[in-house]
Amino acid sequence: MKGVIKLAILNLKCKRCGKTFDFNVGKIVFGNKLSFENKIFCTECGLVEIDDLELTELGQTQVAELYLR
Ligand SMILES: [Zn+2]
Repeated sequence: MKGVIKLAILNLKCKRCGKTFDFNVGKIVFGNKLSFENKIFCTECGLVEIDDLELTELGQTQVAELYLR
């Protein structure tokens, strides 16, 4: 059963400052909403909540590839 994927580095965008960065999010849990194992640190803002983040186009592609694997 799909659902949890280990150790993914995703390209994310911080909605607070608009920066994009690659981050090792740890395990990804696929649900109605993605959730990540690791806390995410923006290079500008420090610790950010998942609601403050969005996947870039690259990040979405990365997630899709992981999910379909
Ligand atoms: Zn930020």
